[in-house]
Amino acid sequence: MSASQKSGADLQRVMLIFAFILISFWTLVVLQWYFTGSIAPALVIGYGLVAIGGGVAFFIALPRQRRTFARRIVLIIVGTLLIGVAFASRRGNMQIEGLFFGVLTSLSLPVILHYAIAKIFGPLLMGRIWCGWACWYSMVYDLLPYKSGERIISPRWGRLRYLHFGVSLLLVLVLWFVFGYRDGALGETGQHWFFVGLLLYHLIGVGMAIALRDNRAFCKYLCPIAVPLKTVSRYSLLKIKGDRALCAACQTQVCIKVCPMNIRIPDYVLGGQRVLSTECTLCQECLNTCPDDALKLSFGFDAGSQELLDVQLPSVGKA
Ligand code: SF4
Ligand code: SF4
Repeated sequence: MSASQKSGADLQRVMLIFAFILISFWTLVVLQWYFTGSIAPALVIGYGLVAIGGGVAFFIALPRQRRTFARRIVLIIVGTLLIGVAFASRRGNMQIEGLFFGVLTSLSLPVILHYAIAKIFGPLLMGRIWCGWACWYSMVYDLLPYKSGERIISPRWGRLRYLHFGVSLLLVLVLWFVFGYRDGALGETGQHWFFVGLLLYHLIGVGMAIALRDNRAFCKYLCPIAVPLKTVSRYSLLKIKGDRALCAACQTQVCIKVCPMNIRIPDYVLGGQRVLSTECTLCQECLNTCPDDALKLSFGFDAGSQELLDVQLPSVGKA
């Protein structure tokens, strides 16, 4: 098979995968509508899915060198849409604390639907695609100039995410059970929580990015939302796969240099595995940069294992 036939077949496969994913999500949306009788969430989620579908088609249609730009556009469209909906509907605190309040308050809140789709069931299909394509924090972080982490600190600092998650949970439990505070999820108070959280996460994330010269420092070390995302995306059907022979012949390690999450992609490929790291955001920078076209998206069953992350700065070509 010629190179162009191969890339055409890959393109078809990718489009089929995304069509399947979009149909799956549409099915969930319709089921939600059927069982709750409420059309508003279905319309909002449906609109978001159309934006994502259109963005992905735009991304695929562009030459590989332009796709980083396309992904950022999609990120901004989806991120701003979701923030806009959250504020306009006045229905919820989408911060992680909002989820905890939501679980304590009722099982029908929009915040629970958001977390169920974007952070639990979605990642079973598509891993941390939320982080690469939809997050309203990373849409800002990715505009900063430190694209692939110039200062890599020990991945052990990533444990701070679990601490952050635990502190947020404790805060909500104390407010709820000790002080009888019930208003953290909905209405005016929920909006205030959301606004303050948004501001803080953006300020802290941008500050960390500048201090560590790494756009995704907040994602790697502090984001509490990464806790459920990483747990579930271990089992994601969609992951990056590589051609072992092409990868072995390459030696450039350019994919590691452009990976915003500092994943040692060739170590997985040469070990005969898909990229099992739960840090992968499916941003596809590695696919778009690989000089031998050795990487592609693939659908399959496996589970994440050891995190193979770069802790040493590659000596050349850092973006
Ligand atoms: S790790 Fe957190 S801040 Fe980063 S992209 Fe994912 S959800 Fe957003
Ligand atoms: S492995 Fe590839 S798709 Fe995953 S985060 Fe790194 S560059 Fe993005």
